Amino acid sequence: MSLRVKILGSGTANGFPSPFCDCETCRRARASQDPRDLRRRTSYLIDDDTIVDFGPDAYWQSVTYGVELHRLRRILHTHRHGDHINPELLTYRRTGWSMNHTRLKLFASKPTLIALQTWALQNEGVRSFGEMDIDDVCLAAGHAVTDGDLDILPLAAKHHHIEALVYLLARNGRSVFIGNDSGYYPEETWKALEGRHIDLAFLDATFGLFKADYDDDHMGAATTLRVVQRLRDMGCLTDASQVFGIHFSHAGHALHRELEAFFAPHRVRAACDGLEVYVP
Ligand SMILES: [Zn+2]
Ligand SMILES: [Zn+2]
Ligand SMILES: [Zn+2]
Repeated sequence: MSLRVKILGSGTANGFPSPFCDCETCRRARASQDPRDLRRRTSYLIDDDTIVDFGPDAYWQSVTYGVELHRLRRILHTHRHGDHINPELLTYRRTGWSMNHTRLKLFASKPTLIALQTWALQNEGVRSFGEMDIDDVCLAAGHAVTDGDLDILPLAAKHHHIEALVYLLARNGRSVFIGNDSGYYPEETWKALEGRHIDLAFLDATFGLFKADYDDDHMGAATTLRVVQRLRDMGCLTDASQVFGIHFSHAGHALHRELEAFFAPHRVRAACDGLEVYVP
């Protein structure tokens, strides 16, 4: 059984190009004939039943890419920033808005669960996740959970002093690391990754080629490569592993082809919307 990941979005909070921005990168992105230069907010579909990060573009991402949301079994959230959550869309799971869907499990840290619940209560009068046919599961960094055949290991990210998670997910002996919205990972996360194998990795590369060495709340592309090297040195990534940068901002001053050219000598690729990756 292979593992399949489809990239539903590969951009930052403001999308790519940035809506009110007239910088050279945004201008070039708008004029580009390459559809890979348009980036929705970062989101991943794993094997048709799991989505990681379900943000403001989730509705059109599902329609564009033929994702049947009524079949979805679980959503995992990395953190509560607005580009990664979409509480309004979840409220349309209620009776009257939605018929015949399977129950959904929602995995997130406590602050993210509170943010979702608070929005639903204040704006739609929804008092519980149960009203939306959702079972919420509270995650803490370093504490693994298993749901069906999916092993979920949430790990600490370094991101604007909020509780943000990255994930190592494993199913049928295949593993994918979801590492967006973090600076250079905290030491506790590196320690937890010791001895683990990663078949497929998506690593933050928000600040692209402009602030390439940035490593605080996000990463620039040179920091992404520093992470790749450490994961290779640790044996987590092998020659067979596939590695991608993701969560690209216009502030990285690079279009898709330029990011690909920067990463290529290091056997790393740039993710783009609609990309489908298989682990055989
Ligand atoms: Zn983000
Ligand atoms: Zn711009
Ligand atoms: Zn964020």
